[in-house]
Formats: sequence, C-alpha cells, structure tokens
Amino acid sequence: MLQKLKKYFGFTEFREQQKEIIEKIIDKKDTLVLMPTGGGKSLCYQLPAILMEGTTIVVSPLISLMKDQVETLIENGIPARALNSTNSEEENYILKRDCLQGKVKLLYISPERLLLEMNFLLKDINIALFAIDEAHCISQWGHDFRPEYTQLKCIRSQFPEIPIVALTATADKITRSDIIEQLDMRNPEVFISSFDRPNLSLEVKRGFQQKEKNKYIIDFIRRHKNESGIIYCMSRNKTESVAQMLMKSGINATIYHAGLSAAKRDEAQEDFINDRAQIVCATVAFGMGIDKSNVRWVIHYNMPKSIESFYQEIGRAGRDGLASETLLFYSLSDMILMNKFAAESKQQEINLEKLHRMQQYADSNICRRRILLNYFGESMDHDCGHCDVCKNPPQRFDGTITVQKALSAVARANQNISIGVLIDILRGNYSTEVKSKEYDRLKTFGAGRDISARDWQDYLLQMLNLGYFEIAYNENNHIKITESGKKVLFSSEKAELVIINRDDTKVNINKKSPTKEKQLFIFAGEGGIEENNLFDELRALRRKLADQQAIPPYIVFSDKALHLMVHYKPMTIEELGNISGISEYKRDKYGKEFVTLIKRVIGK
Ligand code: ADP
Ligand code: ZN
Repeated sequence: MLQKLKKYFGFTEFREQQKEIIEKIIDKKDTLVLMPTGGGKSLCYQLPAILMEGTTIVVSPLISLMKDQVETLIENGIPARALNSTNSEEENYILKRDCLQGKVKLLYISPERLLLEMNFLLKDINIALFAIDEAHCISQWGHDFRPEYTQLKCIRSQFPEIPIVALTATADKITRSDIIEQLDMRNPEVFISSFDRPNLSLEVKRGFQQKEKNKYIIDFIRRHKNESGIIYCMSRNKTESVAQMLMKSGINATIYHAGLSAAKRDEAQEDFINDRAQIVCATVAFGMGIDKSNVRWVIHYNMPKSIESFYQEIGRAGRDGLASETLLFYSLSDMILMNKFAAESKQQEINLEKLHRMQQYADSNICRRRILLNYFGESMDHDCGHCDVCKNPPQRFDGTITVQKALSAVARANQNISIGVLIDILRGNYSTEVKSKEYDRLKTFGAGRDISARDWQDYLLQMLNLGYFEIAYNENNHIKITESGKKVLFSSEKAELVIINRDDTKVNINKKSPTKEKQLFIFAGEGGIEENNLFDELRALRRKLADQQAIPPYIVFSDKALHLMVHYKPMTIEELGNISGISEYKRDKYGKEFVTLIKRVIGK
C-alpha cells in the first residue's frame, strides 16, 4: 500500500484514518467516510481502485468535479475516464470499449447515467467497487439534495456482491443514517474524522465602515500577491461594486453570481480555476463543484446567514493543506439587514436561530475554532492558538455608564428610535428626525459626544449581542430595551464592554504561529527575495505546462509541492521525486524542466 501510495500519489504516509478505511474497502466491507473538505477523501477509494482487480465506478454529481478528478488521476498515470453528457458519441464509444477491455481503473459517472447504463455497460464490466462521492446529495434534509441520488439504491439490488463506499463532508446524524439506509449499505463501517481545518486561520473584523473595509481588503490582497482568493458578498450588486472598487486600485477581479448568463459564469469559474483571474467577487452561488486546491484566502464582505454556510465557504480555501487565511467582516448594519431577512423568511424560527449562532461566532470572546467545532458536535478541549481571539484576546472595561447613556436615551425617546437616530441623540446631532421629534430637548441629548459615531456603532453592536436591547424588525427597526438592559439601566448592574482596538487594522503577518500544525505553515511565504523569485518562476513554468495541456495549474503541481521545491531545491530528478505529492509519473513527466529551472535560478 505504501509503495503504491508513493508511486501514484507521491505521498509517504497516510493521513489519519485513511489506512483503516482503505483496508476495510479492500476487504470488501461497505464503508461510510465522513471527512471535511480537503481531508483526503478521494484517496480512500482511488488507492483501493488501483489495488483491486477490476474497475471502480465513482458516482459524482457534477461534471466539473468529475473532470477535475479524472485530470488529476491521469496526471498521476492512473487510467481514469468520465462518462457524461458532454462526451461525444465517439468518445463514449472508445470509453466503453476501453472499459470492456479492462483498461479503465476508475470510471466516473453521473447518477442519471449510472441508471441508464445499469443493465448494459455495467453488467459487462468487471466491477471492483462502487464509490458514491458527495453522498449527502441523497438526503432530502440537506442543502444539496439531488433526486437522482435517491435511485442509487438499485446498485445494491443489482450488484449485491460489490462493496460500496460512500463519502461526504456533511457530518450530521440525519444525513448519515439517510445515506446508509438509502444505499442499503450492509453493516457499514463508519469513519468520522475531525472536522477541524487547522490550516485555515480565522479572523473577524467588527464594525468597519465601508471605506475601511475596502482599504483593508486592498492591503490584504497586496500582501497576497498572485494568490487566489474569493470575496463572498451578500448581494449581486455588492459583488459588482466590490470588483469595481478593486479594479480602481489596479487589482483585477472577476464576478460570479446567479444573475449572470451560464456562459459568463462558466467563464469566470474557468478563469479562476486556471489562475487567469486571481480573485472572484461572488455570491453564495459560487463554489459548489470547485475543487481548486490552491485557494489561499476567503473573505466574507458580509456576514453569512449560518455557521454551516460560513464553514462551507471558508472550506474552499486551503484544500491542499497549506496555510490559508479567512476573514469575516461583521457590522451592525449587516446584522440588522440579515435579521430582517431571517425574520421575513419562511422558516423564520430556524433561520433566526442559525443567524444568532453565526452572530455569536462573529462576536465571540473565546477561541473561534472551539465555537465552530462545538457547533458541529465535536468538542475541542484546548484553544487553537491560530484564530484572532487566541492571538489577541479582547480586553474589557467597565462600560456600565456607556450602556446606561445609550439605554437612557432609548427610554426617553419612548423606544421609538432606530440605531441611527440614537447615535444622533447621543452625539448631539441636529438631524432632521431629531429636530422634528424634538429629541434635542431630551436630557441625554449630546450625552455621548465624547465617543465617535463609529465607536457608538461598535458599542451598540456589543450591547445588542449582550442582550441589553432588541431590534423590532417589524417596527422600523426600533430599539426595545430588554429585561437585562433594564437591570443595567435601573438597578445599576454592571456591564462589561470590550475595548475597541483598531490598531490591528494595519497588518498582522503572523504566519509563524506556534501551533502543533507548524509544518503546515512553515513553507508559506517565508522566503527571502531569492526564494520568492524562485517560487514565481516555478509558478510561471507550472502555468505554461498547464496551459499547453488545457488543465488547471494546481493539477500539474500543488502549491505545496512548489513550496517544497523552493525549500529543498532538488538538483536531480530523483531528488525532486522525493518531494511529497510528486508521483513517479509526474516526476518523469515534468522533473527535467523543473530541475533545470531550479538550477538556473539559484545559479548552479
Ligand atoms: P476531499 O475530497 O476530502 O476534499 P481531497 O481528496 O481532494 O480532499 O484531498 C485534499 C488534499 O489532500 C489533496 O491535495 C490531496 O492530494 C492531499 N492528500 C490526500 N491524502 C494525503 C496524504 N496521505 N498525504 C498528503 N497529502 C494528502
Ligand atoms: Zn483559537
């Protein structure tokens, strides 16, 4: 197994659980594999496919996913094909012939197509294993339900002897039992990995105004020269305005949302995958079916509606296991808008609760990774050391007077004001509404002049999250004081607020974080000029070779493999072949060109 692992995948060791999973599969046991995105699921059926006699049939829901997997396998010298509607008649003819002759180790197929071929092609092939990828698509309760998946039950009835492995990155219990039941799996061995993604850093920026947000993003992108990233925005319009904002600063960005034509969307996706576009400004419509392994960062321009969405979206970064950054912006105005959407939605209660949990994450004072893992039912007993709270624990002060000033103004205005007017009253601004309602006569008018409007925004967001007031979305977003708010206002119960600290808006380059996963970060962007130069040249060569074959650059070599080349500077093809992730096939195919380049750049 280890020998084949090195030969075909270039790895010298298994990741947690991979070995056990593979052994069960080879032993012809049904298996269910739950692993996070980037965890290494594909290897769990690809290595058995190589080791077992016959062809492994892989059911996959999206053509783009199949294409990516097949290209990756072929690049490693493994005979794989995809049977789907984009093939020509002729292609399918050759493909079927190869299958019948036993020349194909892995055959990717869509569920519809599988049903069509059930009594024909499949009956004539020597099948080793069925692998059901993205198996959660079978569950009606999940977010990616696909009716065709529910018909996969016939695999078991038609091929009772052949083992089934189902794989997914969705971990909840309902989905799990749905998969087992609907595929009619026999006493399956269930493997659940940790859903932690230690290579993703977690950072939240609270209360930034649009200008500051934009500036921060521009600086961020400049620090991530040439690195692929996604900016998720709340609306289609936002994706366009953010992209325009970036272009004005000379940063090229493409746009992706459901309002664009299919052709435009495909183009944006292809440009991103092939490193022609560094950045995509997208709505949540973007991402499904993107296997690009070298997404180095994900920014949320607005807050997502739930932790599930958030985790899925940031999960698109760092699939290759290299350090990747995630950044979430979180503001009071987003908060109000999102709450309004949730309150007006069909499943109001659930959506508000989900949003509430997301809000708790964004506003957390404890390790953010603990909150995420806890949410997914995993308990983590230590802080991660790699999120912004761990790196920079929030400092508090006695904010009782600040809270009292705000709540008192609300009370005196009969709880009939929104956040904007409240800040006008506190700051002593003679705005139209203040004048027309005569709020300038209130005792609290101007009582909070010493605090800037933006700091008030921040404190009010904190107060909202501490539960001192609520926002009545059905009453023009007016502020209503809660019972705990009353305790601070009338019974002088103490209120603690977090000190606003915007110094860190500059930069915190902290890639050398002292974590257990240190090896994950060691190679990312630490080099001197010469090494950076070598990296750029390697990237350019990778891009050239990828373009020649019309495949994405990350399929030629992962970012990680390039970083390792910079680190070890292999001088012979054999040395290059020792690098993790470089299979024999790739070593022989590309070794010479890369070694020649390394020698030239470092002058040997
Ligand atoms: P998933 O399908 O679970 O999202 P992949 O199968 O695409 O994840 O694997 C994610 C990354 O991890 C890939 O770049 C893959 O090459 C790498 N990987 C998988 N197994 C190993 C291993 N044993 N050692 C090192 N890297 C691995
Ligand atoms: Zn942490």
